[in-house]
Amino acid sequence: MEGEKPTTVMCTVIAMDHSNLFYRVCSICERTLPPDTNTTTPAAASLICRFCNNNPITKRLFRLLVSIATDAQVINVICFDRAAKVLFGCSADDFFHFAKLHPFAAANAAKILEGEMFMMTLSKPKNGNAQHLRAVSIVPLKAGFRPAIESLKLLYGIKVKQSS
Ligand SMILES: [Zn+2]
Repeated sequence: MEGEKPTTVMCTVIAMDHSNLFYRVCSICERTLPPDTNTTTPAAASLICRFCNNNPITKRLFRLLVSIATDAQVINVICFDRAAKVLFGCSADDFFHFAKLHPFAAANAAKILEGEMFMMTLSKPKNGNAQHLRAVSIVPLKAGFRPAIESLKLLYGIKVKQSS
């Protein structure tokens, strides 16, 4: 990839690192919190965000590493929250809680998304030492594309709520 201009490619998802889908942010300023704050209640409750000095409720955002095949090459790209939500169809926190009840949900989501075709807009991170391109926008190419959470709910026999 040359220059800083984002490029749009047609691609197929070939793999996803489903062991590492999230990172935690402060729910007030949305800055990244240290990774060891991923325990549940007591530690999180006493946490003070070092950026805004609030005692935040933490929340999760998606950050996933996806291997895609374009017509020219296979590359790894990072999908942050906004792009990843297109693939998953829900917020990172919602998916995390779903996956707590259904332990194989993340692996199954990866399997569901493998082979799907997308238009992805890829950009080079401004931070020079970041090693992967970022997928800044993702658009499914299949007309009836179903986000992973919907396929999972069907798979697990959970009624999909009427959207409100
Ligand atoms: Zn904060």
